[in-house]
Amino acid sequence: MSIYLDHNATTPLDGRVLESMLPFLRGEHGNPSSPHRLGRTARAALDTAREQLAALINAAPAQIVFTSGGTEANNLALKGVLAHHPHGRIAISAIEHSSLRGPAAALAGQGRQLDSIGVDEQGRVPLAAVRQALYPDTRLVSVMLANNETGVLQDIANIAAVVRKAGVIMHSDAVQALAKIDIDFAASGVHMMSLSAHKMGGPKGVGALIMDESVAFEPLLQGGGHERGRRAGTENVAAIVGFGAAAALAQQEFDERRLHLLRLRDYLETGLRGLPGAVIFAADAQRLPNTVLVSLPQFAGETLLQNLDQAGIMISAGSACMSGSLSPSPVLLAMQVAPRLLRNVLRISLGAGNTHGEIDILIATLHKLHKQFAPWEVKSAGNA
Ligand code: PLP
Repeated sequence: MSIYLDHNATTPLDGRVLESMLPFLRGEHGNPSSPHRLGRTARAALDTAREQLAALINAAPAQIVFTSGGTEANNLALKGVLAHHPHGRIAISAIEHSSLRGPAAALAGQGRQLDSIGVDEQGRVPLAAVRQALYPDTRLVSVMLANNETGVLQDIANIAAVVRKAGVIMHSDAVQALAKIDIDFAASGVHMMSLSAHKMGGPKGVGALIMDESVAFEPLLQGGGHERGRRAGTENVAAIVGFGAAAALAQQEFDERRLHLLRLRDYLETGLRGLPGAVIFAADAQRLPNTVLVSLPQFAGETLLQNLDQAGIMISAGSACMSGSLSPSPVLLAMQVAPRLLRNVLRISLGAGNTHGEIDILIATLHKLHKQFAPWEVKSAGNA
């Protein structure tokens, strides 16, 4: 038996997406920059993918810069824009993914002033905190659309309005939000948005930075004039085709997937609440339909994830990048979560293929493990 509940780490490649990619891994091997038939076929496939992605997020196809993933898109947004502005500060929220915190820290290491925007106890970025982080020389603000651990959604349109009014560039990491909530790039007011394919049924190693034409920046990679001079390097045609196909499917199946995930999430949360001491983080905030971050403080020891793995259930503790590390999640620390809730945290992230039966197995397994690992709880039950 194998149950996969870690879709925020990555999703399985949709079989239909794979089919769309296969021709470009076989006979259609042309370079999109070549002037002959094979080149033109590859170029046309890139154009279609660009249109498919643009349609999903209401952006113009020309605003899309394909990258090697969300990490590169985040690096390009921060380092690319700041390279154009030799002086000035950056502000990022305290709950950003490591692929955003990393380049921000690198810029701070080069002497940039880096400001942190705090969150409330539900993991939301208050508008007042954004205003507080804006200085006359702030050049860029980055606040993620959906958090990868808690699933909490930010009020990006209003945050972007505050940032724009101050004449500052606004970036948002929308990697976890893509295909799970409705994204309207044009209406959002953000100048730049990072996306990735492998969190929405597409292949790994491909993503995009969506950029408003008004943003001045320096490319990270120099070379040929690919992606209108914004990202040099022969395009990963098969992966980009897969990204486009995944976007088209997400658009067609959006309502159906969302309803399925919401039903499953409610069912999961009801089951989790039946476990002694369980606390679901950010339960009162607007969240992604597929993500539940829960603390099970009455489980003893650090072996909960391994025991679930042995039972065939695959789940992460916080973000995938944090698993294996015993240090508490910076996201939960920023939310000022009580220290006793920082251990035995599970991030359960659902996907289109999950079923109610799988949730039943998870909850039954957790009850079994609770009896095994919290003997004091069982013994004291009769004395209560
Ligand atoms: N941003 C967020 C919020 C993520 O969850 C991830 C992946 O875990 C990334 C960025 C990085 O994307 P990629 O794996 O495509 O580099």
